[in-house]
Order: sequence, then structure tokens, then C-alpha cells
Amino acid sequence: MYEKERFDLAESLYKKGITDKATLKAIIKVERHLFVKQGLLNHAYKDSALYLGHGQTISQPYTVAFMTEKLNVKSGDPVLEIGTGSGYQAAILHEMGARVYTIERNFELYQEVSKLFQNMRLHIYPRCGDGTIGWNEFAPYAGIIVTAGSPSVPPSLKSQLAIGGRLVIPIGNMKEQELYILTKTGEDTFETEIAPNFQFVPLIGKEGWKS
Ligand code: SAM
Repeated sequence: MYEKERFDLAESLYKKGITDKATLKAIIKVERHLFVKQGLLNHAYKDSALYLGHGQTISQPYTVAFMTEKLNVKSGDPVLEIGTGSGYQAAILHEMGARVYTIERNFELYQEVSKLFQNMRLHIYPRCGDGTIGWNEFAPYAGIIVTAGSPSVPPSLKSQLAIGGRLVIPIGNMKEQELYILTKTGEDTFETEIAPNFQFVPLIGKEGWKS
């Protein structure tokens, strides 16, 4: 179902500058319509963010693809996502072979997405809680992706990243952010690349915005 729409979406993302083959393959494979609300099915393969309920959104496919490309995951890599939302971003990383741990602070969303992962038989590890402090039990991670905007980079996430790993996180005010791509080069050293013009809902927690 919707195979042509997925292919067309991947093609449009390629034209917008996404060139990583593994990312584009995952966009073609993962059925985004299963992650959106019933009433929005006709919009599932448009390149736009969609309302999820509970005041939250499923990110625009271009943003998902851009962040995924920057994360540079390899099959078998342990990856931590902060902000599970609909579960679509987690499913893309899982499709690429990553071992995905994902944290959502909203309990209703966490319950809905856990059920969805089970029904779809996706071996993704969800948890409800404050992702700004990470998930120490399974650290270090080869990649950490934060899908909500933060005022600064949470120190816990920096420390739970493996040397050589990448942390992708929107940093800015509550409405607009730049995407920071940090590569960990040593115990406490990072190289940072910055991409402008992103808009995410706020990352709320101990090392993010205060609620
Ligand atoms: N990645 C999601 C997807 O694929 O649908 C989109 C995420 S949505 C833009 C951001 C999510 O981050 C919301 O569901 C919100 O509840 C969650 N969030 C905000 N602060 C958080 C925190 N401290 N820990 C975990 N989740 C958080």
C-alpha cells in the first residue's frame, strides 16, 4: 500500500539534497501512514510535519532524513532517540539495522507507540521518562538523536555518547533552532557542525527547558 507515494517521497528528498542510500531506502520501506492519525492518512507521504495529538507532531520527512543522514548509523549500532513521538524516526533507524532505544516523556504517547511497535513486531526499546538525562544502562551509544529543541546540549547525552559517535540535536529558543551535529573526538572533546533553520517542539526536562 502507498508504495508509489513512498518512492516519490524518497525521490523528492533526493532532489532536496538527501543522498545517503541507506536513508533513502529506509524512507521507501517504512510505512509512514501507519504512524499518523487516521484522519491524516492522505497527508502521510507529503513532506510536512503532522499533528500527533497531545500537543505534539511527527516531524517532516525531510527533517527525519536529514537528521538520519547526519547520524551516520551502521547496522548493529546502539542508538538512543529522545522524543519517540509517533515512532516513525525510531522505525527508520531500526530499518537501517540500528539497535534503537527511545525515550518519550508523554505517557499517553509512550503507551500508544509501545503498542504500535509490538503490533508491527519492531524490536525497538521504548521507555517513558525524561530523555534529557539519557539512558545510562545501555550507554555508550554510537548515535544519539534528539527530536525536540533544547536551549543547550544536555551534558548527560554528551557523556553517554561513544568516542567516534554522533549526537544530533536542535539548539535554540522555543520556536526556532539550529541543528547541532556533534562528533565525539575524545573523553570530553567534540567537533561541531551546525545546520540552520529548523523548528521543533521544546525538549522539556532536567537538562532541557523547565516545564
Ligand atoms: N521523533 C518523533 C517522530 O518520529 O514522530 C517526533 C518527535 S516530536 C517532534 C518531539 C517529542 O519529544 C514529543 O513527543 C515530546 O513529548 C517529546 N519530548 C519532549 N521533551 C522530552 C524529554 N525530555 N524526554 C523525552 N521526550 C521528550
